[in-house]
Amino acid sequence: MMGLIKGMGVTLKTMTKQKVTRKYPDEPMEMPDRFRGIQHFDPEKCIVCNQCVRVCPTDCISLTGRKHPDPGKRGKVIDTYDINFEICILCDLCTEVCPTEAVVMTQHFELAVYTRDELFKDMGWLHENDSKIRSVNNVNARGVKK
Ligand code: SF4
Ligand code: SF4
Repeated sequence: MMGLIKGMGVTLKTMTKQKVTRKYPDEPMEMPDRFRGIQHFDPEKCIVCNQCVRVCPTDCISLTGRKHPDPGKRGKVIDTYDINFEICILCDLCTEVCPTEAVVMTQHFELAVYTRDELFKDMGWLHENDSKIRSVNNVNARGVKK
């Protein structure tokens, strides 16, 4: 009998506490602003410097570029930009080295799919992934706006 009363006591105490669980996915998760989520890519900003490819620890970025079509302009334009999310570890290094913020982190994290091929995201997909972009992408390591 004492055990039952003790048990009920624990239940009543827990019922009045604030809930720590959520009804995900019905209730979407709000991630903190510093969260490292699936990248957004802006082809207009990319200067094809290859720094993101070189720094990536898992070699999951592949890109191709070509000379700027306008003879009056220097530099290159991007042709293809792909990230393989089978092996991307969302470490943030690609966005940290990008000098133009062509590749930036978002707060999206849902990558569950039925086939591995679907984890290979191309430039069009990464460009359309343009919501919930992390605002601190515009801030350097000392917290100063670039
Ligand atoms: S987040 Fe890390 S692993 Fe993923 S593409 Fe960028 S550098 Fe590579
Ligand atoms: S580091 Fe930025 S600008 Fe350079 S190739 Fe990568 S995405 Fe483009």
